[in-house]
Amino acid sequence: MQELNRHHNNANVMDSESCTHQPVYFGVVNININERTIGSVDVWRCGACKKRFCEEKQLGIEAIADIVGMPHIEPDEKWGVLISKLQKGKDRWSLVRLPENGIIKHERIDDEIVDISVENYQVVEEGYWSFLIDDHINKAVEI
Ligand SMILES: [Zn+2]
Repeated sequence: MQELNRHHNNANVMDSESCTHQPVYFGVVNININERTIGSVDVWRCGACKKRFCEEKQLGIEAIADIVGMPHIEPDEKWGVLISKLQKGKDRWSLVRLPENGIIKHERIDDEIVDISVENYQVVEEGYWSFLIDDHINKAVEI
């Protein structure tokens, strides 16, 4: 894909990749197991270009990320949560960036990196499922 490198020749066209992001808190998605919240994903949105930024929070673990360190996401990716059906507790879920179609790398709890197939922003791999953050803002998702 060609790198966009526009400058300020058209102020009405907001190119998210040249935006100096000004993220403001947008909402939260709670991650529940048996109706108990075990973690959450904080969602921030840039007031200028509307790009979303997400931060994974495991219950009881102090977050160390700050807004300046917002993780990068490509324009053609969406934030999602990957659920490992065989795992329990905090090992059962992780924040991921889902392409429309392709492969994501996932580090299992045994430290092995595995390829996980994605179709239409959904994980299609035995033993896993996923959901999109955008669909569950300010809701709880039972995993
Ligand atoms: Zn922005």
